[in-house]
Amino acid sequence: MYTREDILKLAKDNDVRYVRLQFTDMLGTVKNVEIPVTNLHKALDNDVMFDGSSIKGFVRIDEADMYLYPDLNTWLVLEWEKPPFGKVARLICDVYKSDRTPYEADPRFVLKKNLAELKKLGFDKFNVGVEPEFFLFRLDSNGRPTMEFSDMGGYFDLSPIDGSEDVRRDIVLELQKMGFEMEVSHHEVAYGQHEINFHFDNALEACDNIQTFKVLVKNVARRHGYHATFMPKPVQGINGSGMHSNLSISDKAGNNVFYDKDSVNGLSKTALHFIAGVMKHAQSFGLICNPIVNSYKRLVPGYEAPVYIAWSDSNRSTMIRIPAARGKGQRIEVRSVDPSANPYLAMSVLLAAGLDGIRNEITALNPLKKNLFKMSDAERRRMGIKNLPENLKEAIDFFVDSPLMKESLGDELFEKFLEAKVREWDEYKARITPYELEKYLPII
Ligand code: GLN
Ligand code: MG
Ligand code: MG
Ligand code: MG
Repeated sequence: MYTREDILKLAKDNDVRYVRLQFTDMLGTVKNVEIPVTNLHKALDNDVMFDGSSIKGFVRIDEADMYLYPDLNTWLVLEWEKPPFGKVARLICDVYKSDRTPYEADPRFVLKKNLAELKKLGFDKFNVGVEPEFFLFRLDSNGRPTMEFSDMGGYFDLSPIDGSEDVRRDIVLELQKMGFEMEVSHHEVAYGQHEINFHFDNALEACDNIQTFKVLVKNVARRHGYHATFMPKPVQGINGSGMHSNLSISDKAGNNVFYDKDSVNGLSKTALHFIAGVMKHAQSFGLICNPIVNSYKRLVPGYEAPVYIAWSDSNRSTMIRIPAARGKGQRIEVRSVDPSANPYLAMSVLLAAGLDGIRNEITALNPLKKNLFKMSDAERRRMGIKNLPENLKEAIDFFVDSPLMKESLGDELFEKFLEAKVREWDEYKARITPYELEKYLPII
């Protein structure tokens, strides 16, 4: 736990010149206001204001003044920001209203609220480890992204086929400089597609890390002449990018409550209830975990992304898989989440869904042993296996009917998110696509 004095000293010792006060808007975009270090004391007094009405999902114009309250533990010198203007550090902030109470629709506040529910049930930590995937595309001579892949590598390829290993290494080194504990990095299945994993953490820190990770990846990629994108399905006909989310819960003694050494697949009763809750609400939280029109172009058969709501302790065709790790590493992997999701909100709804399963002791269906994609529609129907939403509109319709979504996100965020997504769908549905012109224009 850093104190105010620690921060002032850290700024001085590291010769920091600027401090970014950072937060996340409703749609998951990282925002910041930068102050010269001479103003740091003001930020530490929680006295830096901004206009909330210009931020997506934040307050209306008549109550627009908002305050940033820095979370001192998030102090970090941004090593990738090089001179000439001196070092830059950042502090992640909580958003407060003009009456000095927390803003209920601040995504970080929403996650904290859901984590408090976990504590009420007697648990301690919600552990989150993510596997973000992304594409690297070449920048053109004007610095704009093209659709040209960084390389023609495939899964786990080496140089010279890989061709982007230096970018990945640079990213990993920069992340390490920022204190990330790195796990693995590798080329993914598609051309120009990559995955970098860092160590799991308590949900709040994990989400802060995801935000930092995305900004860093984009900045380092640019240094190498590439545009990094976390868009779920930038190119049709090849794999899209997911953000598999590995989840577990621990108690105050640090025990992983998802583990039971006496069960066949290592899963405790608590874990099975959590799985059942996640499956029960999977259609409703689609809008949060797969929030954009493009998300649903990824959730189609044939590209290692899930389509059906099922779980398995062995094969990867299901939405939830149980990785082989046991003991402390026992966890569930939710494979539907994509990296366009606001991580604070995605982890909030996943937790709320799982806790609903635990509270109500919902029974999980048996784990699936077969490859879902090799089963017929009729067979799946007979087994009671439902589909994830097929498009943004379906996701909106499930979301709007879910009391759990409203409760876990809070009324204000729920309404604003919905409004933004309905607008997005209305915009999209009126578009005439190349598909239609190709298919219909010549013959109809
Ligand atoms: N890219 C796949 C997805 O969309 C995952 C591939 C993998 O990690 N095995 O989820
Ligand atoms: Mg992986
Ligand atoms: Mg992967
Ligand atoms: Mg995975």
